[in-house]
Amino acid sequence: MVPVIALVGRPNVGKSTLFNRLTKSHDALVANYPGLTRDRKYGEGEFQGRRYMLIDTGGITGEEEGIDSAMAMQSMQAIEEADAVLLVVDSRDGLTPVDRRLAEEMRSNGRKVYLVANKIDGINPDVAMAEFFELGIPEVYPTTATHGRGVRQLMEAVLSPFPEEELVESEEEAERGIKIAVIGRPNVGKSTLVNRLLGEERVVVFDMPGTTRDSVYIDYERDGKNYTLIDTAGIRRRKNIKLAVEKFSIVKTLQAIEDANVVVLLIDAREGLVDQDLHLMGTTIESGRALVLAVNKWDGLEADNKAWIKTELERRLRFVDFADVHFISALHGTGVGHLYESIEKAFAAATDKLGTNRLTRILQDAVTEHQPPMVRGRRIKLRYAHAGGQNPPVIVIHGNQTEEVPSHYTRYLEKLFRKALDLHGTPVRIEYRSSE
Ligand code: GDP
Ligand code: GDP
Repeated sequence: MVPVIALVGRPNVGKSTLFNRLTKSHDALVANYPGLTRDRKYGEGEFQGRRYMLIDTGGITGEEEGIDSAMAMQSMQAIEEADAVLLVVDSRDGLTPVDRRLAEEMRSNGRKVYLVANKIDGINPDVAMAEFFELGIPEVYPTTATHGRGVRQLMEAVLSPFPEEELVESEEEAERGIKIAVIGRPNVGKSTLVNRLLGEERVVVFDMPGTTRDSVYIDYERDGKNYTLIDTAGIRRRKNIKLAVEKFSIVKTLQAIEDANVVVLLIDAREGLVDQDLHLMGTTIESGRALVLAVNKWDGLEADNKAWIKTELERRLRFVDFADVHFISALHGTGVGHLYESIEKAFAAATDKLGTNRLTRILQDAVTEHQPPMVRGRRIKLRYAHAGGQNPPVIVIHGNQTEEVPSHYTRYLEKLFRKALDLHGTPVRIEYRSSE
């Protein structure tokens, strides 16, 4: 599990600047979740090969009322989900009463807190820092977010308590089989589907250690094969009849996507495709995960209505035409068994071993069929291709002037590779390496 880090502080102290420096952001995903603050952003980042998730909580002043206080509550919820909190202050303003309140709040919260004394440029750091030590936070880091000064020391300290990720998949990990994440908006039927997918099979459940934000990981066997379900909807195990009401959590969803081999994304047939569904799809594709779409609550719909929904979805889902779409009823179990066929197929495609000869042959055929354009009087040359990774499959193409390849040509290549290699159900990444 990657550590989750939250940025907290007054408006204007430099949180966004720091956030942008430390992540590739996912704000599009979040901006559209109802009930979330407009300015709460989630991003993923990597520092010296170690990954983390960062949440920018937007400005809290500790003095909010009305709507603002609801927003502050949201920020506090983000902090609840975090492993470490970066309390950002403005060194030029010195210590303010709001900073004191926030520090107090963090302390009572029991989170590991780092004080980031930002905007240290052009002022005497020793003087500025002395004041901040008053807050009783031992870890104080001076930074200039705009130039990245001090950021390395800060991140080294923040990430050091977390175990390094294992780069090679352990045997135990491999025994867990395909990791399937069931994701979707609240109420689309995730819990119902999880219970259905488990069916009557022998089920071994274990919880990942950690906080309430963690998904439930369920190992099980079906037809002699191992699977792990990542249940983002939380705990509704069959033995545990008491329904635990678990809030929908973006951190949970993002982590589940990150940790899965195959994502099953649920859409509510009765609500149609909404923005949040598209954002979740976008995030899954961006993460490179194999994807299976399940349109749920297909029961009890009029035939006319079904036909209309199908046409509409077909039109709007053209951009994910590599993914299988199933029309199911998690409640009655209709169509659920077939999901496994798509999951298996998507996983196989996502982890297929692609040989250099095969890839190069496909590339050369593609180039012969339809040459890349000329740039400044010279034709772009694409010479050979090899595999660069799995889940998602990465195809690395070597040639000249590759940085000039237009995006429509890359899409053309992707389509051909997909077809020739039967890469169904998974995003494919094409990367270029230039030899000049
Ligand atoms: P946020 O409201 O906390 O997210 O703050 P922003 O990241 O939007 O920054 C507020 C302003 O402070 C912007 O104009 C930034 O360019 C500026 N700023 C951020 N970090 C620094 C810094 O380290 N030094 C200086 N001089 N300005 C900074
Ligand atoms: P979650 O929040 O995504 O985990 O959704 P739940 O699994 O809790 O389901 C939300 C509601 O939708 C519950 O009342 C379910 O009984 C209902 N539901 C789930 N799947 C179906 C389905 O296939 N058909 C119908 N009609 N209702 C469903």
